[in-house]
Amino acid sequence: SDILLEVKELKKYYPVRGGFFRKKIGDVKAVDNISLELKKGETFGLVGESGCGKSTAGRTITRLFKPTGGKIIFDGQDITNLGGSQLRSIRQDIQMVFQDPYASLNPKMMVGSIVSEPLVNYGKGSERKLKAEVMDLLQKVGLPEDAYYKYPHEFSGGQRQRIGIARALALKPKLIVADEPVSALDVSVQSQVLNLLKSLQEEFDLTLLFIAHDLSVVKHMSDRIGVMYLGNLVEIAEADEMYLNPKHPYTKALISAIPQPDPRNKSERIILTGDVPSPQNPPTGCPFHPRCPEAMPECSAKKPQLEEVNEEHRVSCLLYQ
Ligand code: SF4
Ligand code: MG
Repeated sequence: SDILLEVKELKKYYPVRGGFFRKKIGDVKAVDNISLELKKGETFGLVGESGCGKSTAGRTITRLFKPTGGKIIFDGQDITNLGGSQLRSIRQDIQMVFQDPYASLNPKMMVGSIVSEPLVNYGKGSERKLKAEVMDLLQKVGLPEDAYYKYPHEFSGGQRQRIGIARALALKPKLIVADEPVSALDVSVQSQVLNLLKSLQEEFDLTLLFIAHDLSVVKHMSDRIGVMYLGNLVEIAEADEMYLNPKHPYTKALISAIPQPDPRNKSERIILTGDVPSPQNPPTGCPFHPRCPEAMPECSAKKPQLEEVNEEHRVSCLLYQ
C-alpha cells in the first residue's frame, strides 16, 4: 500500500466542567471530524487559524492524546486504542517537532544527551556507544561539531529547532509531525529550517505532516494541503490545485490574503468578518456559515460532508453537493 497513515472521522473532545460539583456541562470539540490519509513519502500541509484544532489533531494522530472517536491506522495497524508497550513501540516510528524549541529541549542536558535520549530510551545502546551516530545527526541538521557538548541556551532559535529535528530523526521514524516548526523563528531563518526539513525528508525517506497557520508557509513544502476550520477539515487538494482552484469559501479567503507578487493578478482580497466561534458551542449546520460570504439559507441547518469534486480534490461545502 502507498498509504502510511489513515485517519477516519477522528474526534477529540475535552469535557467542560462547571458548578460546585464540577459536573460535566459540555464538550469542547477541538477536533470534530477529520478524515485524511498520508501517502508514503509525501508532505501534507495542515492549515488553519489558531484554535482551529490543528495542533490537537497532530497530537491525536501521533497518539500523544487519546482520541474521543474515529480510527487511526498507521502502517496497516489500528493504533486508535493502543496503550502501554504496544503504543510505545509504534511511537518509535512517529515523531514530533514542536513549535517552541525552547520549551521542548531540556535546558540542563547537553545537546549530545538530548539527541541520544530517544535512542537510549529505546535500548539502542549507551550514550557513549551512540556518540558517532549522534555526531552524524548533528552534522546532517547543519550544527557545528562542538554542539554535542553545549547546552540549548547557547544556540539561536533556528539552531535550537535543528536540535529538535535531530532528536526527532534519531530513531529513524517513518512519520514526522511538525507543528508550526518555524512560526516562533525569525523570518530570516524560517526558510533555512524549511529547506532543511525538505532535504532531510528525501534523505530519510520520511512522510511529513506539516502543521501551519499560514498557507504561504506550506505552499512550497507540501504535495497536498488540508484546510481546517473549527475542528473540521473543509478542503483537501494537491497543493497547486488548492492555490489555483480553491473551492471552499474559507480557503478562497485564506488564499486571497496571501500577498501577490504578480501585479497583473488583481484578485480581490476577501475579508472575513466576525470571530471564529467557540468550539464549545459550534454553529449548527455548516460551521463556517456565520462568516461565509457565500452562505445560503440551508447552510445553517445542514452540515456538509467532505466529498470529492474530483479524484484529488475534496471539499465540505453545500455549494458542491
Ligand atoms: Fe458557505 Fe454554505 Fe459552503 Fe458552508 S456550506 S462554506 S456556509 S456556502
Ligand atoms: Mg497550535
